[in-house]
Order: sequence, then C-alpha cells, then structure tokens
Amino acid sequence: MSITVGKVIRCKAAVAWEAGKPLVIEEVEVAPPQAMEVRLKILITALCHTDVYFWEAKGQTPVFPRIFGHEAAGIVESIGEGVTELKPGDHVLPVFTGECKDCQHCKSEESNMCDLLRINTDRGVMLNDGKSRFSINGKPIYHFVGTSTFSEYTVVHVGCVAKINPAAPLDKVCILSCGISTGLGATLNVAKPPKGSSVAIFGLGAVGLAAAEGARIAGASRIIGVDLNPKRFPQAKKFGVTDFVNPKDYDKPVQEVLAEMTGGGVDRSIECTGNINAMISAFECVHDGWGVAVVVGVPNKDDAFKTHPMNFLSERTLKGTFFGNYKPRTDLPIVVEMYMKKELELEKFITHEVGLSEINKSFEYMLRGESLRCIIRMDA
Ligand code: NAD
Ligand code: ZN
Repeated sequence: MSITVGKVIRCKAAVAWEAGKPLVIEEVEVAPPQAMEVRLKILITALCHTDVYFWEAKGQTPVFPRIFGHEAAGIVESIGEGVTELKPGDHVLPVFTGECKDCQHCKSEESNMCDLLRINTDRGVMLNDGKSRFSINGKPIYHFVGTSTFSEYTVVHVGCVAKINPAAPLDKVCILSCGISTGLGATLNVAKPPKGSSVAIFGLGAVGLAAAEGARIAGASRIIGVDLNPKRFPQAKKFGVTDFVNPKDYDKPVQEVLAEMTGGGVDRSIECTGNINAMISAFECVHDGWGVAVVVGVPNKDDAFKTHPMNFLSERTLKGTFFGNYKPRTDLPIVVEMYMKKELELEKFITHEVGLSEINKSFEYMLRGESLRCIIRMDA
C-alpha cells in the first residue's frame, strides 16, 4: 500500500484565481477520498473549449478560485469506502459526466444522462459532503465538473471514472474523455450513417473532426465539411473530409447548396458549431425520406430552433446527443479498444504539447484557433 493512503497529499496544480486571468501553479493540499470517491494521480491532461468558457466566465456562474481540467488520464492512487470496482494502480479516464449504474437513466440502454452524476458546471464541491477536497493554507479551492484534472492529484466520484486497458498510451487516450468521444459517438451511435452514404459535418473544430472520423469509420463515401473559417479546411483533409463548403461563398442558404451537391440532400448531418443557424441548416440539408440530423453544439441561452413542420412530415429526423450517447464507465473502455485495434486514429487530433508549468500557453493556442488538442504533461 502506498504511503500516501489516507493522508493529505501536497502537489502542484494550476489554479484559476480569477476569471480570464492566467492560471498560477500553486502547491495545493488534496484530501483523501471519501465514500464512493477515488483519488487519482493525473499524468496527462488536455485543454477543451469548455475549460476556456468557464475560465472566461462570460455569462456563466463564476466559481473561483477553481481548478479546471476535464480531459485527462491517470492512475488510481487510493480509494474511499465502498469502492469495489477500482483499486490503486488501475489506469483510468476521469469523465465530466458520470454513470452511477443505479438510476433510471443508467438502467436504460437508451440513455447516458445519469441522474446522480450528470454534468453540473455550477457545482464546485463533492457530492458526498458538499465540500472541496482541494485547499491552500486551509482555504478551499473549488472543483470543476467533478474532475479538476489540472492538478497532479485529484479526487473524483467513482461513477465518473472509466477503467481502461493498462496497455493504452495515456498521452493519446486522454483526449477520449470529452470532445473526441462526443463527436465520434454523435456519428457512430446517433447518426449511424450507412456504408457509402453522404455525411455533412457543420463545424470543423475538434468535435466536428471527431464526427468526421466517425463517418470515415462507418464507411461514408462522401464527407462534406461546412465551416465559416476556411483555415479549418486544410487540416480537415487529414480527417477524410472530401468536400468543403463555406456558407459565406454563396448568396443562398447553405442547405440549398448541399442539396444541389448531393441530388436532394445528404443522408446524415452532424452539427458541431453551437450556432443556431447552423443547427437549422444542418437539419434542413438532409434528404427527405431518410435523412437524419444530429445536434451536438451547445447553443446560446435564448436560442430557438425554427423550421417548417413539413420538413418532419417529409421524413427527416432531428436528434441531439450528449457526450455522443456514450455511457462513461461502460463504453469508454470499448472506445479505447477501438484505438488499440487501430480502428480509430487519435494522433492527428493532438496538435500541441506543453508541460504543466506552461499550461497558459495551451489557452493561447486554443484562443488563437491554432490547436485541436494541446496535451499537458503533468511531470514536465
Ligand atoms: P470549435 O470552436 O473548435 O469549432 C467550431 C467550428 O464551428 C469553428 O471552426 C467555427 O468556425 C465553426 N462555425 C461556427 N459557426 C458556424 C456556422 N454558422 N456555420 C458553419 N461553421 C460554423 O468547437 P469544438 O470544440 O469543436 O466544439 C463544437 C461544439 O460542440 C461546441 O458548441 C461545444 O460546446 C459542443 N460540445 C457539445 C458536447 C455535447 O455533449 N453535446 C460536448 C462537447 C462539446
Ligand atoms: Zn445514474
């Protein structure tokens, strides 16, 4: 048994003291895990847009000081009371949403929206006692989406931890704990394009390119990337995107452009922008009779989806997905195996790499739109 079990661990973490201000590397105290919690040693983490949104805290509830980070991989250091499925040394991915395996959603094969552990961006404390496990000189530092992986050690609810194949390289599979699985699952689990079909992807960021990777895996013959930013197109070629459409280049709605390109509409479309007009276009560009559109992007608070009901009567289907419909504990180990069997490529998503001491650089890369995923090595 490790000498740290049951004790407070002092370690380095990147603390966000204020909204929009650079993170500061601090020595933090990490309390031992309580009932149904595990303490993880984080080896690799990555930056996702959601971290940046909540760090900027424009329009969201500001919770500071806080430790961000939710895409990561690590090793179980110790376990709390009642934890039976994990043991010290297990290789794991922490996840921002959970799977308690006990609620009506977890018991349904159709849902991954666990009642107990579903994402809650306003909560900065653990469920067990409503307190934080992080502190500096006795003052609490708050958690983020139950993961807080910008710390060498973190405490996570056992329901938010996927145990994975110990042979999997953690500096690759870490990116499966959020955006990449979301896009991949949106295609493979929800849109389900038949082999040889046409798929439109709206938004060619990391999530959209993961959706394109799903379309490639499903055997789509045509993958049409739609983005307002033409700088996204060269990169998207590496993801098997065959055609590019910039809505700004046309004086008619993009759904009409796509219908003309495909003889009436695409078979599937996946919206990964968060823009309400793109969501409507993504629905209206699918073929009547069989087309399916999937909304993945997170809209603004006051957005409303408007389309003529005839679009539904003519047998188009609109769906939405959360985390690509993957159940974190049950399904993520299977996605890791897809990578291990070389069915899924992850390397092409990892465009940048920094050490923990340079974590602020990863924010700059993302804010400048240069990175898909920047991984952060905790020991460098
Ligand atoms: P990103 O900002 O890197 O990429 C979005 C792309 O969309 C950009 O290239 C942008 O130019 C393009 N775009 C914006 N408006 C457009 C429009 N009207 N038409 C065409 N292209 C447009 O973002 P990302 O990290 O890839 O995430 C994409 C979306 O997925 C975000 O809204 C994010 O919040 C959401 N998301 C959802 C889930 C979920 O579970 N549903 C999980 C993670 C992320
Ligand atoms: Zn549940």
